[in-house]
Amino acid sequence: MLDSILGSLRVVALATKTDFRSVTSREVALFEGPMGWGEFCPFLEYSYSESVPWLTSAIEAAFVPAPPGFRQEIAVNATLPALDNAQDIQGLLDSYPGCTVIKVKVGGDRVKDMERLGIIRSLRPDAKIRIDVNGLWSVDEAASFLNTVGDIEYAEQPCATVEELRELKKRTHVKIVGDEVIRKAKDPFALDLSEAVDIVMLKVAPLGGITRAIEIAQHHNLPVVVSSALESAVGISYGLKLASALPTLEFACGLGTGSLLAVDVAQLPIINGMIAVSDVRPDNSVLNKLAVSNERLNWWKNRLRMTWNAGAESFVQERGWSA
Ligand SMILES: [Mg+2]
Repeated sequence: MLDSILGSLRVVALATKTDFRSVTSREVALFEGPMGWGEFCPFLEYSYSESVPWLTSAIEAAFVPAPPGFRQEIAVNATLPALDNAQDIQGLLDSYPGCTVIKVKVGGDRVKDMERLGIIRSLRPDAKIRIDVNGLWSVDEAASFLNTVGDIEYAEQPCATVEELRELKKRTHVKIVGDEVIRKAKDPFALDLSEAVDIVMLKVAPLGGITRAIEIAQHHNLPVVVSSALESAVGISYGLKLASALPTLEFACGLGTGSLLAVDVAQLPIINGMIAVSDVRPDNSVLNKLAVSNERLNWWKNRLRMTWNAGAESFVQERGWSA
């Protein structure tokens, strides 16, 4: 299987429209298997062992038939980085046509965070707003912000640890979504999320694929929301399949992030706030145009090999997946 993956491997660099969590060019590795394309795209600083689920997700996409879906179109939210300029915010919001839920990054400067929310509310008074803090706040900071911010749908990972989230829940009525606490856990099945998290974030790549993401959701038996990790259209299409495979889906999904990219390997248009579930097969000419240097391609090949050896191979064997 490894040889077949490396044989079809393409690596592309996708420029982003704005700085998103310090990423201005997103490198992703794509390969093709009998079931279609898979995307291996851990952020560059991730270790080999941390990259294992990202590789098993890509392998599942390329080699394992996707489970049957419950829906053909997925409602998505607008995702906004920590922009402060009203014109920039408006420009980006306009690239999410029909989206009525807006997720915004906060957790830096409190005054700027509140101003950003104020701008969004004045531009889109009817939108639901959710915030993503990426674990940056202490319990006190989180409680104070959440109890003065006004109406929001939920707060994603306001504090870093399960213990802090549990403490915070005693001090606010705002719903709490667990993201990093689950996807960065050594064993997401060993976590006790009771009284700490109201909703589980499912991201197909960092959780190791559709099957394992659904197993994690079933294990914790909490409502889920599906999101992504700044993937190309190939990775996003797999997130859409995860969203489609869930029996209940009550929240708009963070799968509209193609709007943050200046270029992509294929188009997954947002129409009336929805994206259609589809197989994405990128054009060879597009892959050529966006290809990285040979040096970067070799870096990714080595990374993929090392990640295979760090645990992806044994996961694939355990699951009985074959080429
Ligand atoms: Mg998050």
